[in-house]
Amino acid sequence: MRLCRFGSGSLGVVDGTVVRDVTRALDVLPAYRYPLPPHDVMIANIDRVIERARAIAADAPSVPLASVTLLSPVANPGKIVCAPVNYQKHLDEVRSQSELHHGSQAHTAPIHTAGLFLKAISALVGPGEGIALRKLDRRNDHEVELAVVVGKAARNVSRQEALGHVAGYAIGLDITIRGPEERSLRKSPDSYAVLGPWLVTRDEIVDPGNLDLRLAVNGEERQNSNTRFLILGVAELIEYASSFYTLYPGDIIITGTPEGVSPIQPGDVISAYVEHIGTMEVKVRAA
Ligand code: MN
Repeated sequence: MRLCRFGSGSLGVVDGTVVRDVTRALDVLPAYRYPLPPHDVMIANIDRVIERARAIAADAPSVPLASVTLLSPVANPGKIVCAPVNYQKHLDEVRSQSELHHGSQAHTAPIHTAGLFLKAISALVGPGEGIALRKLDRRNDHEVELAVVVGKAARNVSRQEALGHVAGYAIGLDITIRGPEERSLRKSPDSYAVLGPWLVTRDEIVDPGNLDLRLAVNGEERQNSNTRFLILGVAELIEYASSFYTLYPGDIIITGTPEGVSPIQPGDVISAYVEHIGTMEVKVRAA
């Protein structure tokens, strides 16, 4: 199933070129009182939400997909976990261009040394909300990545068990200001984490380790690779991350970008594609 969030918080099932409005399926969610749990409540109950959405989708009102504003398919993740240099050819290009590494060893270490970092959850938007660039005097780059949405809490999970903790997949854009500061600062301005266009549930993607991914800016292709070139694959990333901290339902893991990162400017339109997920278009403006 392809689950999207759209408009001012509606829940939809994407069915070809239409979205079926199944917002009423959220009625199955338990009532919560403060303090809220450390997970996304929709993703934590996704099996029940999907069951209800299936039951009501056929009679649900539908709207053209092209007419809706797509939001992040996860509203309230606890964290956005990011793999910094997880494709060898991207590591090679970072090492060969000083404007990408800024003389910092932390920027040129392989993932086994560099580890993972976090983006602020306030950076998260959906494709319909667009990217608002800051620090226009500096280089701002696109990075297309396979995004994994955690479905079940994961703590010291082995790679063999890891995919059983996944709710589904989406496309992630890890927008980045280049420079010497910590990644978490340069990659966390509002709108610098784009998730979309929808969540594809795990059952629809048997092997996340063999998906084409591409990105174009204004119709010109910049990135084109396949997740089989990931240094740490999805299962290994879950094993590694969950050995440091608990992954909660709704946590997002963006798995790293392949080679071809390049600057973006206000006025650009990014088109990002991941096989078995789809394509999302994202407009770039000045903040
Ligand atoms: Mn990245």
